[in-house]
Amino acid sequence: LRQSIHIVPMGPNDVAMAGQRYTLIQIADVSPTVARERLLKAHADRMSDLVHIDALTGLGNRRFFDESMAAEVRAASRTGAYLGLVMLDIDRFKQFNDLYGHPAGDRCLQAVADVLKAVCRRPRDLVARYGGEEMAVILPDTDSAGAISIAKEILQKLRDLGIAHANNLDQSVVTASAGVYAARPTADVSVTALIQRADVALYAAKSDGRNRVFCFDTERSAAVAV
Ligand code: GH3
Ligand code: MG
Ligand code: MG
Repeated sequence: LRQSIHIVPMGPNDVAMAGQRYTLIQIADVSPTVARERLLKAHADRMSDLVHIDALTGLGNRRFFDESMAAEVRAASRTGAYLGLVMLDIDRFKQFNDLYGHPAGDRCLQAVADVLKAVCRRPRDLVARYGGEEMAVILPDTDSAGAISIAKEILQKLRDLGIAHANNLDQSVVTASAGVYAARPTADVSVTALIQRADVALYAAKSDGRNRVFCFDTERSAAVAV
């Protein structure tokens, strides 16, 4: 029984109380109200999940990524901490779909998502499906070396799955390319600028032959193989 209790002291100045002290205690059963509020809260939580989770992979979706990235950049610029970002794109995925069919492509995306979940296991790591077959990982408190090692581990674990891909150039299995950027964001740096640098690195990894990690080097203002 959920109770709502009101205690009202009465008298002795109250004329009707004839100088005596009384206390009025009112106990009401509010169980139905509490149950209804719990239900509404559960619904609201579920809706919030649906709005932020990608249905196919169970990863965060693009909205989740955008909101998380903005929050993490703000947090890192306050504390002066490093923030690592990994952008990952499956190699020759259009050919994979063409060769094995769209449902197999969907299963492949789920397998890639599972690798990401397994590798990015720190409670604060944030993994999202950025779009199509591109995934993004936000790594709070992680510098270039840390983000590069995560990216390499993801690529290795994906290769180890051995998902057949006969049209993936010299590789016979599904592979991915990754672009990494880590920095200590300042208040004036835009989220877009950070993403663009990781994207430049990803593009460089693709042009260099795919199935590899590149990192954007701030000093050289260019993407470098790692
Ligand atoms: P690259 O090595 O340059 O990345 O080549 P790519 O073929 O992977 O690149 P492209 O961007 O041309 O193709 C991406 C493909 O990803 C095309 C699209 O059909 C496929 N794709 C995107 N989202 C999904 C999805 O939800 N399910 C499936 N099965 N395929 C998807
Ligand atoms: Mg691709
Ligand atoms: Mg792509």
